[in-house]
Amino acid sequence: MLYLQSERGRATQARYFESDKWRLTRARYRQSDEYRAAARMKQARYRETAEYREWLARHQQTDAYRTRTARHRQSEKYRARQKRYQQTEECRAYHRQWRRTAKGRAVTRSTGAVRRARKHGAQILESVDRGAILRVDDICHLCELAVDPGNFDLDHLIPLAVEAIEAAWNYAAVHRLCNQKKHARFDGIVLTPTARTRWQQRRPAHLAELEAHVARIVAARSDEKAAA
Ligand SMILES: [Zn+2]
Repeated sequence: MLYLQSERGRATQARYFESDKWRLTRARYRQSDEYRAAARMKQARYRETAEYREWLARHQQTDAYRTRTARHRQSEKYRARQKRYQQTEECRAYHRQWRRTAKGRAVTRSTGAVRRARKHGAQILESVDRGAILRVDDICHLCELAVDPGNFDLDHLIPLAVEAIEAAWNYAAVHRLCNQKKHARFDGIVLTPTARTRWQQRRPAHLAELEAHVARIVAARSDEKAAA
């Protein structure tokens, strides 16, 4: 029988693995190039596995991940690297591709809307989720037909020219063409009776908010007229 398989041998080995001598040996080994190379290979192999991808997808949903990523993006190191990358042709090519995807098109349009709202000095500026507005009502209020989820505009019910408001209750999903043909005139009626009935069912809180603001603007305008 081998010594290490004997009771005494196993006891001696167990004691050794508890000892500082072993800890030191192990720590030294982990500093070696050989160990580090092996560890890198092992990690690379692990990253190829479905198990890792599942773990990552779950992990990316956690608040810990989000705060860590957000913090990292504020760092000098990250910003410098990002700046260097943005100068490359690879980055520009990637962006051209991305802008053509459904998500890219949606994001480009929604940031455009925020920029326009800011330019008009928006008084109410909340972040608006295009997808959420579409989910709650995908019928274009200008023509009463469903919009294409991959290609639609958000219409400002209180027009930007009247008051720049960026809030979910001031938005409705509309066809691009319908939006272009819409009159900019504001007479206090922002929804057709049909659309208003739909909002009563699907977006009652938004309707209340919208109508309160419309009433406020109409009152302010008639005050101005009376004073003139
Ligand atoms: Zn339409």
